[in-house]
Amino acid sequence: MSYTIYNSHIHTFRDVDIPRKFLPLGLVRLLASNFGANIFTTLLNNVNPFSEKDLLDRYVKFIKIGKLKTQKKVFEECSKYYPENTRFAILAMDMAYMGAGRVPRDYIDQLDELAQIKKSYPRKILPFVHIDPRRPQSLEVFKKYIEQHDFHGLKLYPPLGIFPHDERLYPIYEYCQKHHLPVIAHCSPKNPVYYKGSKRDIYELLKKSKNHISTINKTKKELCSNFTHPYNYTSVMNDFPELKICMAHFGSGDQWKEFLEQPRNPDNWFSIIRKMIAEYKYFYTDISFTMNDKSFFSLLKVLMSDEKINSKILFGSDYYMVETESDERRFGLDLRAFLGEQNFRKIAHANSKTFLCKSALIP
Ligand SMILES: [Zn+2]
Repeated sequence: MSYTIYNSHIHTFRDVDIPRKFLPLGLVRLLASNFGANIFTTLLNNVNPFSEKDLLDRYVKFIKIGKLKTQKKVFEECSKYYPENTRFAILAMDMAYMGAGRVPRDYIDQLDELAQIKKSYPRKILPFVHIDPRRPQSLEVFKKYIEQHDFHGLKLYPPLGIFPHDERLYPIYEYCQKHHLPVIAHCSPKNPVYYKGSKRDIYELLKKSKNHISTINKTKKELCSNFTHPYNYTSVMNDFPELKICMAHFGSGDQWKEFLEQPRNPDNWFSIIRKMIAEYKYFYTDISFTMNDKSFFSLLKVLMSDEKINSKILFGSDYYMVETESDERRFGLDLRAFLGEQNFRKIAHANSKTFLCKSALIP
C-alpha cells in the first residue's frame, strides 16, 4: 500500500506570471480584487449567463489560486490533498512571448522562486523549466536551473507559437537526452491558451511547419493547434531517439469524446498519441486535466489492459487548471478506486518513476 505516488503534472505559477491580455473580457482586472472575484463567483454559481461556464469557472479558480502570495502556498494547497510521500513535477510557465502583453514579473523571478521551494522540499518537488526558444540564451537558462538548482526537466508549450522541431530547441534536447532529463509537452488541439497576437503573426510563425497547413477560414485557436500536433514530434524522436517526451493531456477530453463517438477517425489526437506511445520507446502521455471528466475512466481502464501502452501512461492532475477545489482530492481517490490498485500503482508510481528518473537518484 505504501508506495510513492508521483503527480507528474502540476502548476504553481502566480497571477503575476500571467500577461495582461491573457484572459478575455478584462477578467484579469475584474478578478484582481477579492471583491471582484467573489462577485464573479456568486454570479456564476447562481445564473449561467455565459455559454462557456466551465471555462469561466476555471478562470475564477485560476485567478483565486494564482492570487496566493507565493508559489510555495500554491504548492502546499495542492499537496495537502495527497498522501505525505507524494512527489510532484511542477511545470513553470513562460508567457512572455505569446503576444498577450507584458508579464508583470520576470520569468527568471518565477524560476528563482521555484528554486526556493525546491530547497524547502528537496525530495517532494521536481521542477521543470519551461523553455520558449524565443527567449534569448534559452540553453544557458535551462542549464543554470538544472545544474545549480536541481531542476528536473524541460517543459514545452507549443500552442504559444513554436514548433517542437524548432532548431533553437535542439541543443536543449541534446542536453536532455545526454542527461536522461524528461520533457513534458502540452498536447491538446483546442486549448484556450495559445498565441494571442495577430493572425498575420501566426501565419508567419506557421511558415516553419514541416507540413502543408491549410489556413483558410481558421480561427486563431485552430491555427495554433498546428504547433502542438503530435506528429510534429516524429522528426524530434528520429533525431533524439533516446529523448523521453510526454504528450501531456493524452490529446484532451475533447478528443477522447470524439473517439468514443467516431472511433475510426484517423485524425483524432487520442488515436494518434495512442499509436505513437506504442511505437516510440521513449514517448509517453499523461492523463492530467483530461481525466477530470469521469466519463473517460472506463476507456482508460480498458487501455490499461493493453500491454503495448500501459507502461506509457502517467498520472498527473494539472493542478490548478481543474475546476473546483474538492476535485483535487476526489480526482486521485476516485481514479484510484475505479482503476484498482494495480493499475493505479502502474500509472502513479512505476510508469512515472521510469519517465521522471534522470539517473539512479530517484529511489
Ligand atoms: Zn498543465
